[in-house]
Amino acid sequence: MRRSLVAGNWKMHGSRSDNTRLVEEILRADQGDAGPEILVCPPFVYLWEVGRQLRGSSLALGGQDVCAEAAGAHTGEVSASMLKDVGCSHAIVGHSERRALYGEDDQLVARKFAAAQREGLTPILCVGETLEEREEGRTAEVVLRQLDAVLGVAGTDGFMRAVMAYEPVWAIGTGKNATPDQAQEVHALLRARLAEKDATMAACLRILYGGSVKAVNAAELFAMPDVDGGLVGGASLNGEEFRRICEGGGKQGA
Ligand code: PEP
Repeated sequence: MRRSLVAGNWKMHGSRSDNTRLVEEILRADQGDAGPEILVCPPFVYLWEVGRQLRGSSLALGGQDVCAEAAGAHTGEVSASMLKDVGCSHAIVGHSERRALYGEDDQLVARKFAAAQREGLTPILCVGETLEEREEGRTAEVVLRQLDAVLGVAGTDGFMRAVMAYEPVWAIGTGKNATPDQAQEVHALLRARLAEKDATMAACLRILYGGSVKAVNAAELFAMPDVDGGLVGGASLNGEEFRRICEGGGKQGA
């Protein structure tokens, strides 16, 4: 059984006062075991304060990124042990904005995935193709290359305690989501690749869909057999919208 997970990626948005209001609203989405697991990923500087506000709820806290190195002279970076120290259970790795805007390649993403796991964090590995790659018929090649790079470093065992997110780059922040069938096709492909390594692990691994998830499309996306919830950007900044997305995400999976 896979319990759905709905994760909010706040990206570089918010302020202390905005966050307080947003978390108050998001806490109303907490249905405990009756609903999806809920995770919020604020910017690093707000993690501790948001974590305090989440205390006593069943909502989890995650970083939007993590350094591949454990400690040392890495100005501006945040390590996995620091994320753990401020109460995070998860870290997003390989988000397309990190890949495209900050030059993160598959190897670096794989090292970040492993670094998160070494500290007991659950990495959320994002994969996804650009519009050009989709139009060239290269979606499968791209997402499997991104997945294989991490399998090569973290091994099959690495996916025993991980989450994946299929996030087509053309759907992120564009208002144009993948159709449920498009999402299902890629999710099934990713799960099949993992099943070649370990069928039990593949059956247990949660694969989230991300890309313009909103209250109006969440339920039908999350209802697909291999879609185990969502990674939500823009819509996670609106507490009411995020709560409605979570309400559409309570599927107890395949
Ligand atoms: C994201 O940032 O991971 C994302 C999916 O953004 P949006 O929901 O805004 O498309």
